[in-house]
Amino acid sequence: MIIRVMTMSYRPSIDNVTKAASNDKDGLYEFIVKLVDGTECRVFYHRFPEWRLTNISRLQKTPCPVCRKDFICKCMDSFVGEFERQLSDDQWIDKALTE
Ligand SMILES: [Zn+2]
Repeated sequence: MIIRVMTMSYRPSIDNVTKAASNDKDGLYEFIVKLVDGTECRVFYHRFPEWRLTNISRLQKTPCPVCRKDFICKCMDSFVGEFERQLSDDQWIDKALTE
């Protein structure tokens, strides 16, 4: 029950974004997104016809903040909308690309 409450209340908060790789010709971009809780995620974007988040996976450096597993899990998939909103609202992608 407690775990459920924690899961429901988890909300990722982006602390920093860096570009990991890109292919400008094909419009493919890979970013490392660091959250304030220390979680790091690999996020893939495709820019054509418009910027969209295509995939997200947690780097297994720290346990998952949602399920606490230290191996692969799908928890971050349910926060794609939240990641996209923050990445867009706070212009993280623009900042990462101009660095
Ligand atoms: Zn998880």
